[in-house]
Amino acid sequence: MDIYAELGIRTIINAVGPATRLGGLPLSDEVVEAMRAAGARNVRMDELQEAAGAEIAALLGAPAAYVTSGAAAALSLATAVCLAGDRPAAIDVLPEVSGQRRRVIIQRAHRDPYDHALTAVGAELVEIGYPGSTRPDELLRELDERAALVLWRPGRGGDHLSVAEVSELAHRAGVPVLVDAAMDVPPLERLAALFDGGADLVAISGGKAFRGPHTAGILCGRADLIGAVALHHQDMDIRPRTWQRSEVTGADPVRGRHGIGRGMKVGREQIVGLLVALRAFVRDPDAHHRHGERELADIRSALEADARCTVRDGYEHHLDVPVLEIDLSASGLEADEVVRELDRGTPRIHVGEDLAWRNVLVVSPMGLQDGDGAALAKRLIEVLDRGNAARFPSEPGRDGRSHVSTQGAQRHDRHP
Ligand SMILES: *Cc1c(COP(=O)(O)O)cnc(C)c1O
Repeated sequence: MDIYAELGIRTIINAVGPATRLGGLPLSDEVVEAMRAAGARNVRMDELQEAAGAEIAALLGAPAAYVTSGAAAALSLATAVCLAGDRPAAIDVLPEVSGQRRRVIIQRAHRDPYDHALTAVGAELVEIGYPGSTRPDELLRELDERAALVLWRPGRGGDHLSVAEVSELAHRAGVPVLVDAAMDVPPLERLAALFDGGADLVAISGGKAFRGPHTAGILCGRADLIGAVALHHQDMDIRPRTWQRSEVTGADPVRGRHGIGRGMKVGREQIVGLLVALRAFVRDPDAHHRHGERELADIRSALEADARCTVRDGYEHHLDVPVLEIDLSASGLEADEVVRELDRGTPRIHVGEDLAWRNVLVVSPMGLQDGDGAALAKRLIEVLDRGNAARFPSEPGRDGRSHVSTQGAQRHDRHP
């Protein structure tokens, strides 16, 4: 059964990488099979979290770990713990913060659209420093009795406070440090460096470079803080008189009611799928790099002789992956129209658009399957040939709509 064909949806060659708008990366057979097996039977979710969390912590070299529905949910749950701890009365009222500590301190250069994940549970953001630099005293003066946590992000340029500098000052004031390493772990050495630097909690995506299910992530770090995450997250629709201690850890599960994380629930398929993906990663961290290199080499050799594009080797620092940059300046076409044409044509292809503003397409190898590199190069040459003969229609909105309605009509015919 091809469910996507049945629904009239065209599948995509993913040259973007782990993009949420495309549903992440293709999953390996090993991960899909583990998810199928997990979905076939029931378990107690708190026990599954405890057992999987313990193994994931060991695989990562973290003190403790908890599986979330993504790194964004990990940021929300970490914030909830820093605002309300393990106190049922405080947990029950989030996003109203009952204690005094409700501020998240963040260097201005570390701001990101994912900050919404922290404010959503009731925190107030306080920016320190400037885009080019941050000074220690600018952090120090915000570390008062209103500070709940400091958020830190890796890989931001400029003269800013390192995770070690932030941690030293924050810990002196009794304030924990949360790191958003969604895109930056693996490699596992980066995680070790964050803990060495003093990070208390680290949020990681399960569906990016670890190649787990796209709706899985990890919050890892200090065992006392991770222990409180379940209180904000687990479904508490239980009968306290009959609900017994966990057979895995003996933890007493009777707490408050649903915490603010209840809407971020994680399926057993996601927990098991992520665990199996992590095992595969630790077994052979370079397996996918080798595969990706082959696909990129196919693209490089197919485009080498084409004067309309200049192919350069690039590197995606956060995801630690080599990429190809295809400069279209000499083609007479704009990257945006080529991107739209690759989406409209067959095979349907999505490429990285981060550098489209300077007429460069970025090809990530992470989501490419066998033969995708060659197919991408062939289609790109076709687009350049056609584009040189006649410019493409320039109104993506109108073209997009007519395209969708044709598909809708087909679908209607087949499923009246
Ligand atoms: C991708 C990303 C997230 C969110 O990760 P999900 O696993 O998709 O929830 C958070 N922060 C940053 C910096 C990211 O790049």
